Amino acid sequence: MSRLLLVTILALISVSRATAEDALDRFAPERLAAMHEAVEALKSQRVEIPRTGPLREYRANLHVHSLLSHDSRGKIEDIVAAAKSVGTQILMFTDHTAATYDSFDDGHQGLRDGVLLIPGAEAKGLLVFPRESFRKFEASPVQDFSDVVRSRGGLTFVSHLEERMDWQLTGITGNEIYNTHADFKEEKRLIAAMRNPLWLVTASGLIRKYPQEAYSALHDYPADYLKRWDQLCQLAPHTGVSANDAHQNVGLVIRKIDGDKVRVEDPLGEKLIELPAAAVQPLLATLPPSDAGADPSILFKLQLDPYANALRHVATHVLMPELTQPALWEALEAGRAFVAFDWLADSTGFDAAVFAGDARHELGSRPAWSDGLHLQARAPLPGHWKLIRNGEQVAEGTGRAFEQAIAEPGIYRLELWLDVAGAERIWVLGNPWFVGAE
Ligand SMILES: [Zn+2]
Repeated sequence: MSRLLLVTILALISVSRATAEDALDRFAPERLAAMHEAVEALKSQRVEIPRTGPLREYRANLHVHSLLSHDSRGKIEDIVAAAKSVGTQILMFTDHTAATYDSFDDGHQGLRDGVLLIPGAEAKGLLVFPRESFRKFEASPVQDFSDVVRSRGGLTFVSHLEERMDWQLTGITGNEIYNTHADFKEEKRLIAAMRNPLWLVTASGLIRKYPQEAYSALHDYPADYLKRWDQLCQLAPHTGVSANDAHQNVGLVIRKIDGDKVRVEDPLGEKLIELPAAAVQPLLATLPPSDAGADPSILFKLQLDPYANALRHVATHVLMPELTQPALWEALEAGRAFVAFDWLADSTGFDAAVFAGDARHELGSRPAWSDGLHLQARAPLPGHWKLIRNGEQVAEGTGRAFEQAIAEPGIYRLELWLDVAGAERIWVLGNPWFVGAE
């Protein structure tokens, strides 16, 4: 492909821009630079909030794939190292099921280098975290399957809500309230641009300079997911969790092959196209050295979704007394967790509770209805607080703290938004209090 053709393709992409913001807009060099500066500025404004009481906060990444999945080559030691680098203490794996291994018996489990590994699977539209092999039940209809996993001590969450908004399973632990891959699927113009390997080569300098901002350009408020979650919580408590859907499988490798040809591959080694070397070499010559590593046949390598960036993007912060599987189960069953887009700023210390006198009701709990219920929340950064009751905003505030009297029964949840580079971005999504539910 000639340089002229590339320029033409890029021009066509820019002409086809719709009015809605797409991640491609956020790829503009000045936008990425401004976002980087804003994130750095937030770091300097942040204050530590010490947590009191018996509960400690642990950062969990759910919906993580490793080399057990057909569509990932991630080695466990590399994923654990990435987790540690972003402050994650819990990795909940959801490898795709396969005949070659058992999701529980062969899954990653136990403490490794201080990170608690939980084996699980992405199966039948669910995130499944079993306590024993579920293989012999896998052919069951999804409700029966969930029931049997739950009856044997496992957790089940509905995954990829955008594909199953009509699902209404009973007895499940909860659902994803954000899924990175679902968020990515909405970025139509970025996806169109990425289909052209030469666009990726051209953009690689920017992506290497701002890897997190480039990865997280896909981040939007998950309005459809939250609307559905609010509906589901009206039927029964559903613990909301975030899904990283981390695979480390998006990117590009250009490899020199026989003669004067190059082979363009995805990061899993699948061939995308073969081109005459002359078509890409002038372009490659203009770029900074790539992260090709020791393999001399690799002319260019770009990984768009390294585990560290995928795991930093969003997490589920779980409140529990100790870092053990039983404590994690108890907290997730109780909804004692919040979801945070930590790529904007570290949300550790976010704290919110409903008080009835001195009695403290944590996130996810079910305080009985009484007069004088009072919500108190605080965060390590000032933001825009929104209190949602039964799916509708009923109060708001700004600052590092938020207080609100609870005037009537209902299902209440908190959102906290940050002002980042001139726009409000969703930062924290708390699990609801079910006030007067029983
Ligand atoms: Zn997945």
